[in-house]
Amino acid sequence: MTAMTHAFFRPPESSRYALRNLRAPRCLLPAAFDDNDNDDKAGGLAAVDLLVDEGRIAAIEPAGRLPAELGPDLDASMLLPGMVDCHTHLDKGHIWPRQANPTGDGAGASMATQRDRQAHWNAEDVRRRMEFGLATAYAKGVVAIRTHLDSLAPQAAISFPVWREVRERWAGRIALQVSSIAPLDIFLTDEGRELADIVAESGGRLGCVTRSARHPGDPMPPDMDAALARVFTLAAERGLDLDLHVDESTDPRARALIRVARTAIQQDFAGRILCGHCTALALQTDEFIEETLAACKDAGIDIVSLPTVNMYLQDRSPEARTPRWRGVTVLHEMKARGLRVAVAGDNCRDPFYAYGDHDMLDTFTQAVKILHLDHPLSDWIRAATETPAAIMGIAAGVLKAGAAADLLVLKARNYSEMLARTQFDRTVLRAGRAIDTALPDYRLLDDLTAG
Ligand SMILES: [Zn+2]
Repeated sequence: MTAMTHAFFRPPESSRYALRNLRAPRCLLPAAFDDNDNDDKAGGLAAVDLLVDEGRIAAIEPAGRLPAELGPDLDASMLLPGMVDCHTHLDKGHIWPRQANPTGDGAGASMATQRDRQAHWNAEDVRRRMEFGLATAYAKGVVAIRTHLDSLAPQAAISFPVWREVRERWAGRIALQVSSIAPLDIFLTDEGRELADIVAESGGRLGCVTRSARHPGDPMPPDMDAALARVFTLAAERGLDLDLHVDESTDPRARALIRVARTAIQQDFAGRILCGHCTALALQTDEFIEETLAACKDAGIDIVSLPTVNMYLQDRSPEARTPRWRGVTVLHEMKARGLRVAVAGDNCRDPFYAYGDHDMLDTFTQAVKILHLDHPLSDWIRAATETPAAIMGIAAGVLKAGAAADLLVLKARNYSEMLARTQFDRTVLRAGRAIDTALPDYRLLDDLTAG
């Protein structure tokens, strides 16, 4: 079988070259490209020429400024920065062929994953599936990923050392960050303290779900406040940021987000806090939503929505009943309130999501449709580029002179073409050079995942 790349063009071979007549989102360009004209017929895109030198962006100029001999005219092709996926589960990825989710809902996902973890997740299994996910993401033009790692003992002691090796192997290609994920109540035990130490040794974020293993059916377990206080204390003692799975539920009783915010304020927590999912918030009254968002703003909480996974898992019923809601949080209201909001890929071919391909451009495209990020699209592309980079505290996701020339060039000339057609033929530039965008073959995992 021959691997072939479908990238629609290759840049010049020289270390200094231009790509001329591109279209780039104004919101990701320097302020000089801001357009005060409200009737923006170009749909939020600016016509630019790009100069690359020694692997970095040397200049971005209005189109027409750079001489033709420096490089090709790309006929209005879109230019994007490398994309950033700030919430994934690389350790779960691609187990679907050996461990499906029989019910397709969240409870089925948790049970199936636990079964698979206990039976299969040795270091080799976790490493090879993570490598497969990273190779796929890299070929798609993803430059940074934060992954959660299932952390119930004994898994943390297996997965975190693997992750540290993988981080070194991928340094310079994908910036990798890590967060733990475990039931909230383990932080009331020694296991929680030991986990916080493993996370600290790994330079990670302390993370958990806002559910308690001792009260599995209760979205607001009685030990929640005590356990949350302990999570914040363990993080503060070690100087760790937090990354929490919050209220991932269709149950309107799930109101943990405001408790997280109030705990942060009470403890005057100095670290960053990223809260993922928060879907049950969309089921609250307008007054309670406003109260919660005000508390999140005070606490400096960032939000990530995982729209493909939420829509897959939520409002699913065994009786062939059609789902009635989309399962996503109030992302527009959060952004309007001044919170930093991102979208991310979450799970990939595992019991929490049977599909996915580690492709943040596809995640953004689906987010536009699921969350109505369109009409106008405004600056929502930041939610898949600049904002998750800022949340992760890394330099990525913007188009400016001096930045690494880690870029996507699309055949699409505008958002309409980009959002309508799968961008399988994108050119991915890393440090100014086109990389092979052929994807790893699923057959590479057959010996691990045959059921
Ligand atoms: Zn997640």
